[in-house]
Amino acid sequence: MAKKEFVVFGLGRFGKSVAATLAESGCNVLVVDSNQEKIQELADIVTYAVKGDVADVEMLESLGLSNFDGAIVAIGENLEASVMVTILAKEMGIPYVMAKAQNELHAKVLKKVGVDQVVFPEKETGIRVAHNLVMGNFFNAIELSSNFSILELDVPEEWDGHSLKELNIRAKHSLNVIGIKKASEMNINPAPDEKLSKEDVLIVIGDNDSLNRIKEKVK
Ligand code: ATP
Repeated sequence: MAKKEFVVFGLGRFGKSVAATLAESGCNVLVVDSNQEKIQELADIVTYAVKGDVADVEMLESLGLSNFDGAIVAIGENLEASVMVTILAKEMGIPYVMAKAQNELHAKVLKKVGVDQVVFPEKETGIRVAHNLVMGNFFNAIELSSNFSILELDVPEEWDGHSLKELNIRAKHSLNVIGIKKASEMNINPAPDEKLSKEDVLIVIGDNDSLNRIKEKVK
């Protein structure tokens, strides 16, 4: 399969983190920033690092971006540059353009010019961190939406030695067990009559209220 290609405009903390993670995940990554030091910091990690002004149409056209899979506009402060490069990226035919917004007005303008997704990194991280704090007993929770999560859960004491069928977890607790981790073995297709042990870790999916209730059991 051909490597995916992404361009990241702006190497603040967000842009740098996105670019480095995409590169570490095996994608071809082009980064553009007007600051030579920022370019230098990522030059050895990404595929291409170009110093330039993202509002420079000729420079952007010379990069041949039309075959890229996606663009990430990670410029918050400079609204004009953020909007300009979003318009140009869409005009060049990049199918998916994601942009970081500084505030609601910035997000509105980005949507008007055709951005595919707006992100508020600080706000979104804050919400995720707070939810993880509230669900403190769980480790490795994946938030699917503001109401639903998947998480790893220690087997409550009283479930030790009982099967999923006996416990009737779906009906009694509104949770679905989608996997059982025994030592280092992961079973992603647990049989209804499989007996649980208090050493096991369950992978469960459910709404956050049900997950919070079950949390009380493993305290
Ligand atoms: P973060 O919060 O992610 O650290 P930020 O929103 O505070 O980022 P910005 O001031 O938006 O940071 O700048 C992000 C990067 O975008 C900087 O490295 C800056 O050099 C670059 N940048 C800003 N304007 C342009 C432009 N017109 N052309 C190229 N790069 C730019």
